[in-house]
Amino acid sequence: MHFRRLRLAGFKSFVEPTELRIEPGLTGVVGPNGCGKSNLLEAIRWVMGEGSAKSLRGGGMEDVIFAGTAMRPSREFADVTLVLDNEDRGAPAGFNDSDTIEVQRRIERGLGSAYRLNGRDVRQRDVQLLFADAATGAHSPALVSQGRIGAIIAAKPVERRQLLEEAAGISGLHVRRREAEIRLRAADANLQRLDDVLRGLE
Ligand code: ATP
Repeated sequence: MHFRRLRLAGFKSFVEPTELRIEPGLTGVVGPNGCGKSNLLEAIRWVMGEGSAKSLRGGGMEDVIFAGTAMRPSREFADVTLVLDNEDRGAPAGFNDSDTIEVQRRIERGLGSAYRLNGRDVRQRDVQLLFADAATGAHSPALVSQGRIGAIIAAKPVERRQLLEEAAGISGLHVRRREAEIRLRAADANLQRLDDVLRGLE
């Protein structure tokens, strides 16, 4: 699944609507210190469902919204859209009829985050599962932030297993298994209640 375009508005230093085309092959981002190179990678992690503000170098999630400068007022929302290539129909069922998948996340001050997949409102979990099934995601070891290389080299066996599981594209199965277990427990509790009611009627 290739990333085709990244659109940002009000995200960190990208206050004006900005669209970047991501061509096939290797992409390099160059620029002077502080120009926003890391912010671009963080925008990709954020739109993939990153839930930790700390890992985006912020204290709270609203810190991703343009905070203003001496010359420009702050913004009330941040919006990031990642356009994925689906020409090979590699995405899960539900996207079989579209050549691209647009994943959008928007945060408004005081209102929190909302997600959309091809314009349809979805849960954060749906977005995270989409990327987990494609063997990537906000916590993918393929996204190596500054200073993280040492941590990956020194990873414990359990952490290394997570890397392999993600590369094999089975991380999404763990999430689904946890959700299925929760539903099973709820169904079990309902059955027990039903048994109690039936016994009361006998
Ligand atoms: P370096 O090469 O030094 O690693 P970089 O190009 O990766 O730098 P970033 O770290 O992506 O740069 O961007 C830092 C800039 O983003 C700083 O100027 C900072 O003020 C700005 N910035 C971060 N968050 C916000 C925000 N919420 N609102 C406005 N500007 C922000």
